[in-house]
Amino acid sequence: MVRFENVTKRYGALTVLDKLNLDISRNEKVSIIGPSGSGKTTVLRMLMTLERINDGVIWVNGEPLTHMQRSGRMVPANNRHLRRVRGQIGMVFQHFNLFPHMTALQNCMEAPVSVLGLSKPEAEARAAELLDMVGLGEKKNHFPIQLSGGQKQRVAIARALAMRPKVMLFDEVTSALDPELVGEVLNVIRKLGAEYDLTMLMVTHQMGFAKEFSDRVCFFYGGKIAEQGSPDQLFGDPQNERTRQFLSAVL
Ligand code: ATP
Repeated sequence: MVRFENVTKRYGALTVLDKLNLDISRNEKVSIIGPSGSGKTTVLRMLMTLERINDGVIWVNGEPLTHMQRSGRMVPANNRHLRRVRGQIGMVFQHFNLFPHMTALQNCMEAPVSVLGLSKPEAEARAAELLDMVGLGEKKNHFPIQLSGGQKQRVAIARALAMRPKVMLFDEVTSALDPELVGEVLNVIRKLGAEYDLTMLMVTHQMGFAKEFSDRVCFFYGGKIAEQGSPDQLFGDPQNERTRQFLSAVL
């Protein structure tokens, strides 16, 4: 469903990702862990085309993300192609990024109306259904300022789902929350994993959740995946010295 093929990303002299190869199957739930600065967020941002890559190709559902294939050749993608491929991906950020002047419902209707061309009643029905799903049906007419951090994050999840993505990216979505609000957001993510046909890629510091939820955990170090495996393998019997050091510091 998502493939990074020899993807390199540099910021000036700093190589953040060095020929990264990563294949994620449809419906797979993959967690990315690793020390600060190891390029975890950059991986998600490249998938959202928020960052340009220096080399390599990212594939989404069999199509190259930043290039198109034309008569066997790869040429830079035009905006229409980019929008279509990127439209399959939804992202939830650490800091919610809700529109402050819109209610929860309006936040979830905006892109389906302006990007997908849904009618307002259609978008409203879908938004209300998704807000119900994340347990916020009663708060749909509240503005972000009237919501707790956990509630804002659940609106952000509903908003991403309103675009009917095939792939969902979560970037440390509980890091900005008070500890007692973390559980409600993780519960919504659990529910998505169980009830929706979604490929999920998650950068997280919640090792317990990564262990319980993921099919695969990737440990990033030095611009590469230093180790990857099932949660049982990676947390229970890490093979790489760096993984062991990291886990003993955070667990
Ligand atoms: P954290 O766990 O702290 O969020 P991370 O593993 O997600 O870290 P990234 O945010 O992907 O790390 O950043 C990887 C490296 O790239 C870091 O050294 C960071 O300082 C650098 N970096 C990120 N964005 C930029 C930018 N726009 N310009 C220059 N350097 C950047």
